[in-house]
Parts: sequence; C-alpha cells; structure tokens
Amino acid sequence: MSRRVAVASIALLALAPAAAPAPDAPILPQEARYLWRDGAVVVHGARSVVVGHHAPDRELRELARRADAAGQRVSGVLGRPVRPLIVVPGSAAEAARLAGVGRIDGLAALADGGRVIVVPELFAELNSTGKDVVLAHELTHVAAGTDHLPVWLYEGFADYVSYRDSGLPVRTAAAELAAEVRSGRLPGELPGSAAFAADGRDPVRLARAYQEAWLACRFLADRFGEGTLVRLYRDAQAGGVDRALAALGLSAATLTARWRDYVRDQLA
Ligand SMILES: [Zn+2]
Repeated sequence: MSRRVAVASIALLALAPAAAPAPDAPILPQEARYLWRDGAVVVHGARSVVVGHHAPDRELRELARRADAAGQRVSGVLGRPVRPLIVVPGSAAEAARLAGVGRIDGLAALADGGRVIVVPELFAELNSTGKDVVLAHELTHVAAGTDHLPVWLYEGFADYVSYRDSGLPVRTAAAELAAEVRSGRLPGELPGSAAFAADGRDPVRLARAYQEAWLACRFLADRFGEGTLVRLYRDAQAGGVDRALAALGLSAATLTARWRDYVRDQLA
C-alpha cells in the first residue's frame, strides 16, 4: 500500500472540502472538518462522507462507494436512513489518537461516537468482501448504539447485519467455531466480555466469540424474524436484555439451550 506518511498533530484548524458536496450529501459533522492541520481530504458519496488524512483521492472514493453500500445494508435492517461518516487517518497510531485509546491491536476499523475510523494498514489487507463486512459491522455499532447491552448482543447484531447479504456461507464465516463443533465441542454459554478481550493472545478464541454471538442473533432472526431481532435489540437497550427476551418467551437459559442446538445444526 502506498501511503504518504504525514503524522500531523491533530489541530483544530479549518480545512477546505476537496469539492462541493452533492446536493443531497449529508452535512459534514462539525468535528470532522477540524481533524487535521493539513492534508485532510473530504470525499462525498451518495449518502456518505469520507475524510482522509493525506490519502489518495481514488482510495477515498472507493471507500465512499463501500460506505454507501454498507449504509444501505444497515439501513435495510434498522428501517431508517443511515448516513455514514468514515474517517481515514494516515496510520494505526493516528487512528488510536483519534479514538482516544492507547493502541489498536488487530482492528481494521472501529466505531467511535458517530463515526467509523478506518485503520489503514489492516483495512488494506482485507479482501473486498472483508472490507464491506467490516464497514457494515462498525457502522451498525454507530447507527444502532451499544450502550446498556450485553456484548454478545451488540457484537452479534453487528455481525448479523454485516454478514446478512455478504454471500458467505455460514461455515465459512464461522470457520473457527465450525472446527470446534466438528471436533465435538459446543460452546457452553453466550460469550461475555472476557471472550471478547482483544489482547491478541488468543485470536482463535476471539474469532469464535464473534461467531458465537453472530449465531445467537442469526438464530433469533431465523426463528422469530428479523424485525423481532431489531425490536429485541431496542427493547434490551431500553429495559434490559432479560425483559426483552421474556417478551419472546425466552430466558437467558432457554436462549442458551436453543442457541447451542442451532450452532450444532448449522455447523456440525
Ligand atoms: Zn464490533
């Protein structure tokens, strides 16, 4: 990947948009216009805005196309318009500074407030389907929110949305979990925060955690319908996941039992 290195300090100075926005383009959120002292490039998609730091125009345009598609994917599930804001820093270190975190391990993009921050080095390594899946996943976090939810529900929901139209077979997208199931081991409980701790020590366990969460949400959509999954997500945000599950006649224990059956059926 060719990338001009320019780690400018994140200064609060105005920058000029690269081109006049399309008539129906989203208004660029105020914060995004003040990200960098120099070298910021703003590209408008049909529904998205991409802000890059010293990034080639061509790459940002491709990202805007992908962001438009990801936005449609997320919007199709949530049932309301989604207008993606994608920020492309010059490096992973700059991405970490923007997100206000110490370091970024193994992430190709992350949701940060109302925007998706792309980690350029790792994002560039993904194939085309992977890029679309990652963008739709993070955009789901941005659009649907993650507060007040168990991690299996918001990570699983984001993967449900991002894999929904990806064309990937379930055994391919959940390869690590499928290998585990084929060797006779079923997960015992829905994955919690410890399973998602992305400390890089056990990438296979981390991959399985996402796949377990994904299949929990996929089970709910298959069994009760996608609209019910979306409603459950909102109900859980408003009143807690136990109450939201109870409305479907489920408890954490019965969901776990039925999810384990589903995982075995889908992957064995
Ligand atoms: Zn996520």
